[in-house]
Amino acid sequence: MFEILPIPAFKDNYIWLLVRDGRAAVVDPGDPAPVIECLEALGLQLESILVTHHHADHQGGVAALVQRWQAEVFAPYIESITGCTQPLSGGETIMVLDQPVSVLAVPGHTLGHLAYFAQGALFCGDTLFGAGCGRLFEGTPAQMSASLMQLAALPDDTLVYCAHEYTEANLRFSLAVEPGNQRLHERIKRVERLRDSELASVPSTLAEEKATNPFLRCREPDVIAAAIEHGAPDISPVAVFAAIRQWRNAF
Ligand SMILES: [Zn+2]
Repeated sequence: MFEILPIPAFKDNYIWLLVRDGRAAVVDPGDPAPVIECLEALGLQLESILVTHHHADHQGGVAALVQRWQAEVFAPYIESITGCTQPLSGGETIMVLDQPVSVLAVPGHTLGHLAYFAQGALFCGDTLFGAGCGRLFEGTPAQMSASLMQLAALPDDTLVYCAHEYTEANLRFSLAVEPGNQRLHERIKRVERLRDSELASVPSTLAEEKATNPFLRCREPDVIAAAIEHGAPDISPVAVFAAIRQWRNAF
């Protein structure tokens, strides 16, 4: 089993640190400095780097880290990733710290975006967030919708290790979409308490996301009604998703 720890970076990024028997892997090291500081403090050797997509706040630290530790770098092969040694397209099972990790292709935020799933933990980068999802910089609503459905099909107790602390702001939008959702009200209270204490709202569980994240609820009557009000041309899940995502961009 891995131990999983957050390394906060920039304003609201999480670089996830996986530890096993004194060996380490990191997911999406956008900034090398906090990673080096953390690994030195814990006396860990970096063996593997997993990158979900090409944005600088997810891969900007790779070059400095491989110079220091010569770690292998797993990354989407269709994206430009500095130092990638293990190009992936999704569907593979890779070994990280001698543990199997499933690679999922989840295009939408970017076209090559990958998610990594191991031991009940999902590292989903900027695809699925606490109560939200990533912007569609490169992909289509149909692609992102399919990617989110693929993640939603994982076990309910999956822990969702996304790459940003966006939950509180996302929940304000979720409430606008589904003001009558009781589970959502409960989650807002819980997340407010965590953030008031400067604690992470991440990871959440997939069950919690399925109950409160509007982007995973595009078949729910209240979400469909809100999407129609915001321009969805029909009630298909992709049309509902597209309208909700568009509304969120301007929220
Ligand atoms: Zn991104």
